[in-house]
Amino acid sequence: MTSESAHSSAPADNRLLPGPILLLGAPGVGKGTQAQRLMGDFGIPQISTGDILRDNIARGTELGRAAKSLMDQGQLVPDELVNGMVGSRLTQPDVRRGYILDGYPRTLGQAEWLDSHLISLEEDAGAVSLPLVAISIKVDEQELLRRITGRRICPVCKTIYNIHSKPPRKEGFCDNEGSPLQHRSDDTEQAFTERMKAYNSLTAPVIEHYSRQGRFREVDGSRAVEEVTASIEAALRHLRQAGE
Ligand code: AMP
Repeated sequence: MTSESAHSSAPADNRLLPGPILLLGAPGVGKGTQAQRLMGDFGIPQISTGDILRDNIARGTELGRAAKSLMDQGQLVPDELVNGMVGSRLTQPDVRRGYILDGYPRTLGQAEWLDSHLISLEEDAGAVSLPLVAISIKVDEQELLRRITGRRICPVCKTIYNIHSKPPRKEGFCDNEGSPLQHRSDDTEQAFTERMKAYNSLTAPVIEHYSRQGRFREVDGSRAVEEVTASIEAALRHLRQAGE
């Protein structure tokens, strides 16, 4: 567990909340930071498609080679590759109580694939599980660019820093691991512009998709990290109660 995720003791009723949780939002809104915090509060895993892809790049797998140049240019990786990755991650036993999908689904095709995949998992298990709920975090575009270009990540524990708003104690090094922090190759202004285009044209329909089903809430991500977490958890309680 990282220092990000070990920030608080979980409110008693948080243990009731999990099930599949989607965190949606433009690059830099804080999906990863919030997913790490929710992971600590709910005791369920974070599944970040971006992290899985970066891990494949680092290990030089075929998937990593197929994804690298698209990611560096700020473009999305094809649905079939990402759906396959998520499908295989969801076979692991730690997802039974729930999980936080961070950065997936990012296209309508992925959302539709996920919906039917979850139905088929339920049919196989012969049990009804909690419905998936989606939270979108919103921050204005100027602030996103500042966050993206200032973001630094520990390659070992994945803790997310920001040179402006959350610098490490020793410049350039992780507080927990002492390892040199990394600046993602797609956290440049140029790639950010492309990532925003992909977000506006391809991911916005995903939000509409879940909104139409009444399983969606939007949260203001411009406030302090703790306040955003509290709003997400309140939204989740609301969605879970409404779905009972
Ligand atoms: P992230 O770490 O979520 O910001 O993702 C970094 C990059 O990985 C994105 O800009 C895409 O190139 C790729 N990626 C991550 N998740 C997905 C996804 N669900 N669908 C397609 N591409 C993705």
